Amino acid sequence: MDMQKQNNTVADKTLQKYPIYSRSVSCYEKIPEDKLNDEWYIGRSHPEHEEYFLNYHMYYNQMYREDPGEEFVLQELKEVWANRQKPIDCFDVKFEVKKIDEEEWCLTWFAHYTFDIGQSDEEVLRSFEDFLLRKKIHISYGYDPYSSILNDDSGYCAMGAEDRWRWKGRKTADCNSELVDPPCRCNGCKERGIITIQH
Ligand SMILES: [Zn+2]
Repeated sequence: MDMQKQNNTVADKTLQKYPIYSRSVSCYEKIPEDKLNDEWYIGRSHPEHEEYFLNYHMYYNQMYREDPGEEFVLQELKEVWANRQKPIDCFDVKFEVKKIDEEEWCLTWFAHYTFDIGQSDEEVLRSFEDFLLRKKIHISYGYDPYSSILNDDSGYCAMGAEDRWRWKGRKTADCNSELVDPPCRCNGCKERGIITIQH
């Protein structure tokens, strides 16, 4: 093996795949007084107690460095729910946990993240692009306000990541600093050991 190859860690850094779980909590909550005639609420009302509607909480994906198994993720979700800051008055609480993918990037609210394993910015951006291509997302490199809509046939919800110009990261370590060039390595990301691309 030549030295070039031995020292080249890019190849193994760009092929990491991690287990991703979707997690959600659903329960029936009281419909707000001013929404009793609102169709959105009526469509989700309880079969017997029609003043209550089905609401989803903490509906997001979580990526793990190693597969902890469904049972662990479920217990973790139950703990987060039990320790939430503002308790919610509701009943018929259901916890749902499902392994949905093995991938390098995990979708959250208009952002994707991967684990920080010492990648350079260039490696991060290349791996994100590769990831989107694996998901059959056609990336638009120019400014096109309609491309997200036109390209929405892959079955994967990219939440705007299909537009290259949307990719952003924090300017400084401050999590509230200006969003400029990707990726994001702010203090919040550092604490979680992740690198984020907002879009
Ligand atoms: Zn960040």
